[in-house]
Amino acid sequence: MSRIAYVNGRYLPFRDAKVHVEDRGYQFADGVYEVCEVRGGRLIDERRHIERLKRSLGEVRIRLPMSTTALGVILREVVARNRIGYGLVYLQISRGVARRDHAFPSPEVAPSVVVTARRLDLARNEALAAKGIAVISVPDNRWGRVDIKTVGLLPNALARQAAIDHGARDAWFVDNDGAVTEATSANAWIVTADGTLVTRRADHSILRGITRAVTFDAVKGQGFKVEERAFTLAEAFAAREAFITSATQIVLPVVRIDGRAVGDGKPGPIASRLRREFHRYAEVG
Ligand code: PLP
Repeated sequence: MSRIAYVNGRYLPFRDAKVHVEDRGYQFADGVYEVCEVRGGRLIDERRHIERLKRSLGEVRIRLPMSTTALGVILREVVARNRIGYGLVYLQISRGVARRDHAFPSPEVAPSVVVTARRLDLARNEALAAKGIAVISVPDNRWGRVDIKTVGLLPNALARQAAIDHGARDAWFVDNDGAVTEATSANAWIVTADGTLVTRRADHSILRGITRAVTFDAVKGQGFKVEERAFTLAEAFAAREAFITSATQIVLPVVRIDGRAVGDGKPGPIASRLRREFHRYAEVG
């Protein structure tokens, strides 16, 4: 079955799904995006993803080109047309097409809207979570507003490739103070020796993950202690458990950091439990 994408008002076969060469998303990374998990053909935490999208658009001064209800209809339509049971839906909005100039187009142009969806392999993801992943640490060389979910992801892509080149799965960014900010496409967490969960405060130095927010509800619901603060790489090395959270990875245990085993080198009980319980706390659309 051929994949279908939504591009600026039309549902198109993938081979015809194109944006213009002077789209500002392409030329300046002048656009924002969202990724939602799809389970049983339904969107997970759509409301919060759309809220964050509105915030990202506002921060970069791109107008929301349609109502959030209309956006929701398109997301669902793309999921349905691609027959996604378990997978993800991707939404990107750029400032639009205009002659190349750093300044915003004047008069304003219509933002470009693209939606794609694809299947994920549930058994493969569960097997990965049962094994846990290795991460490496890399200096956080991103811009100062990574709380905005822009398509400007070159440092993330380079860090992810560096991880793969080192035989790891992902990278954790570390700031100038030696504190972990986040992973290349996920938030970072540790469980300290006394069983407290720690994740960085959601300021401008991390993306305010929707999965992070839902994990907070799960953590509280399960009666665990949690602290929202920066933690150093040294603390992560000494942690009992570590994990990452993102829409498509849910809660994914980290078992090695820079080649050192975290705890006993196996996925920890807290991360595993949060992964199991996660969808009880998420909203199903
Ligand atoms: N941090 C970064 C840099 C990301 O790219 C992502 C998701 O893509 C996240 C964190 C996790 O966000 P969410 O839980 O909303 O998927």
